[in-house]
Amino acid sequence: MAKILHGAPVIEEMNQSTKNRIAELKASGVVPTLAIIRVGKRAEDTYYENNAIKRCNELGAGHIKVALPIDATEEEVENAIIECNEDNGIHGILLLRPLPKHLDDNKLRNLIDPAKDVDGCTDVSLAGVFAGEKRGFPPCTPHAAMRILNFYGYTPVTNGEQASVIGRSLVIGRPVAMMLLKDDFTVNICHSKTANLSDVTKRSAVLIAAAGRKHLVTENFVNEDQVVIDVGVNWDEEKQGITGDVDFDKVEPIVKAITPVPGGVGTVTTSILVRHVVEAAERALNNK
Ligand code: NAP
Repeated sequence: MAKILHGAPVIEEMNQSTKNRIAELKASGVVPTLAIIRVGKRAEDTYYENNAIKRCNELGAGHIKVALPIDATEEEVENAIIECNEDNGIHGILLLRPLPKHLDDNKLRNLIDPAKDVDGCTDVSLAGVFAGEKRGFPPCTPHAAMRILNFYGYTPVTNGEQASVIGRSLVIGRPVAMMLLKDDFTVNICHSKTANLSDVTKRSAVLIAAAGRKHLVTENFVNEDQVVIDVGVNWDEEKQGITGDVDFDKVEPIVKAITPVPGGVGTVTTSILVRHVVEAAERALNNK
């Protein structure tokens, strides 16, 4: 039986200090505020948006919703980003992605002021993650995965243990691989062309699944000393709810520890997001 790495105790520890920092900012006349820019009404986007707003309310941060129609022009999205950049009452900007295909993702994400890039999507933030330096902010989901590992005592490592990441997107796979590397793991970055995937993942101490493929990871992918972090969020028709990339029922009896879906990485992600907003507001106040 594996230890279940619930997100709740991780956020409980974080949220008290986030609340304290928000109270201090408010005492200085600053309400740390997140702007969420959404184009269209994708279910995944509104799900994340609602959770982010819930967390802002719970912790005392402000939020502003900028909802644009699915057929918004590039200029309209650009203007929305520029307005948020220029508004001193907004400290963090979350641009929900992927954007509709007619919009230039590279151009738009890089329009966000790196000082307000609380979900780490600009090249400046990503360069910071790759260089192992503090520039902009790390993306929230990889940061949440690393926070869970650290909270439950699985980082730092001492012998350059192996970690495998399934997924190489700029949103999750690559940044989390760089964060693992910074923590001295020896990292395998796996993807859809990786041969003998289960052989690679099976020999690692930590497995991070971020493929977006329901129940890709089965009992053949894991070992009994392994810690499994399931980042996947997939809609399960049968359950009428979300499920992970890991087949929990088959994997949990084998491994040492595992995050649940829901209740694992996703829970921690929104707390990290609000914390980044708070940090952005503190940096802005200190730079005045
Ligand atoms: P993505 O851009 O679609 O990337 C998926 C990656 O997985 C790609 O690199 C792909 O390989 C790889 N992959 C797909 N099928 C594979 C297979 N059968 N074997 C090996 N590798 C495979 O997705 P993403 O944006 O990184 O998101 C990944 C997952 O995280 C999704 O389920 C998403 O919903 C979830 N997510 C969770 C949170 C959270 O807070 N928990 C936040 C955001 C996203 P190629 O590069 O070769 O195509």
